[in-house]
Amino acid sequence: MKKVFVFVFVFLQVLPATAALGESLVWEQIPGFSSLPAGAKEGFAQAADFFKPACLDSLKKVETFTNRTLPRALAGANLLKIRADVLQAENFSQLMIHELAHVVDLGHFRGSQDAGESKFRDGHLPIFKNDPSVEFYRISWQDEKFWKRGSNELDFVTGYAATDPFEDFAESALFFVMHNREFRILAAENKKLAQKFAFMREKVFAGKVFETGKSFADLKVREWDATRI
Ligand SMILES: [Zn+2]
Repeated sequence: MKKVFVFVFVFLQVLPATAALGESLVWEQIPGFSSLPAGAKEGFAQAADFFKPACLDSLKKVETFTNRTLPRALAGANLLKIRADVLQAENFSQLMIHELAHVVDLGHFRGSQDAGESKFRDGHLPIFKNDPSVEFYRISWQDEKFWKRGSNELDFVTGYAATDPFEDFAESALFFVMHNREFRILAAENKKLAQKFAFMREKVFAGKVFETGKSFADLKVREWDATRI
């Protein structure tokens, strides 16, 4: 009996320390991460925890900048840039979920040249037909600028999501994490939102569904920006 007690005690002591070391090692290895303030590191790690770990494998660098005329944060395939004044913001973690979703979209989900170019471009860069993101973009978009015929603003989780396919992806990911109940309510009424919800659940969040957000949603109104609700 005594031996069992000792074993359990040792197990509980060792396991959390090992897990914490593993998590901090991953982020500390990314250049720029270790110089973030403690609160921002925590918010960043919380945001990253929602994603399948492999989804963030393309992120290579975190930078901060001070120019307040630029957006609060910018993310590409390998780089995340955060405006210094938002590091202490209350909604920092939400902002990071949105930005990390851009990293997944542009960095983790990649196609190959042999599949041919899709109608979507990221600036001047082609996006190949077998890039998994293309399946998501095609729900509402004909290319990176125009909605598909028959689309309307209620097919998007927020007003910002309706501005381009990349913001559609990032806002849908953030809405999935922070407003999952509302997303399910909207998806029950809207076929395109149901497809976006299914894509996020299966491809980005490892089949998870979160008990977040309110248990009601106005079917006829969308907020502008999911980081602010
Ligand atoms: Zn964005």
